[in-house]
Amino acid sequence: MENSHPAGQSFPGIGFTSSRWVKCISAQGNVRGVAIQATELIQSMADTHQIRSDSGMRSLGEAVMGALLIASYCKNKERVNLNIQGSGNISQALVDAYPDGVARGYVIERAEPVKGENEGPWGDGYLSVLRTKDGQAEPYIGTVPLITGHLAKDLTFYWLHSEQVPSSVGLAVSIERGKIKAAGGFLVQAMPGASSEELKAMEQHINEIHSVAEEVARNGDPMTLLSQIFQDTTFLVVEERALEFRCNCSWDRVNRALALVGVAELRAMLQEDSAASVQCDFCGKKYEVDAEGLEKLIQARGEPAT
Ligand SMILES: [Zn+2]
Repeated sequence: MENSHPAGQSFPGIGFTSSRWVKCISAQGNVRGVAIQATELIQSMADTHQIRSDSGMRSLGEAVMGALLIASYCKNKERVNLNIQGSGNISQALVDAYPDGVARGYVIERAEPVKGENEGPWGDGYLSVLRTKDGQAEPYIGTVPLITGHLAKDLTFYWLHSEQVPSSVGLAVSIERGKIKAAGGFLVQAMPGASSEELKAMEQHINEIHSVAEEVARNGDPMTLLSQIFQDTTFLVVEERALEFRCNCSWDRVNRALALVGVAELRAMLQEDSAASVQCDFCGKKYEVDAEGLEKLIQARGEPAT
């Protein structure tokens, strides 16, 4: 049994340091922002999942950056799980993201989009955010319908509706000849005490950003986006953090999953293939269980393997 990637270790070639987020807060402390540059991160995920279509890469990029934007304001040791179900080219996107800038995720492409009400590429459906904290039994769950099918707009609605925080979100992925040229985004949030003038000015600067993707492509530094949005406000940079594609799948988790498989099914695997293969959806790593391993699992249920 091959087990060359212990949990929590970066895969060679997957970890990247140039993708990052920068977080800031206005000097008065009533508006906060985070800007993200994730070009290499999204490309490495698209390569891992062998996503070739422009729409697949764009959706993966939007979902991963959206989850990272949510995670950027979560407390240490929290985990964000963003789950989007849509009727467009993507039937589902699932992303895990952490406040330390680590993310993993995948999208499931659909051959033909289903005609819906919403104009945006995600179509009709819903997005749900699950926030879990280590050692805490009750996770936080917020679910909203997709009301436009554009993820940035629907996330804005999520923050207002589910977390009661007025927010502005931008997400952009630009693709050239099958490669991601730029992936970036931002989130700006009004904290209690923000004045309407302040917010109006921010909103105007956000509207002036012609294209987030173009800005990111021109200058990979997320600071550029923040400087534009906060241009007439003094702001303090509170964090700059490298983003990383990392999966925490492990033999431990695979064994726990196999422990839920019924004896009859394990017997069938043993008889048909003398082995079982479990593939991680998030990173593609294959876990092979040989005949001996399957027999052990069957015996563990207290029944002879014959
Ligand atoms: Zn994995």
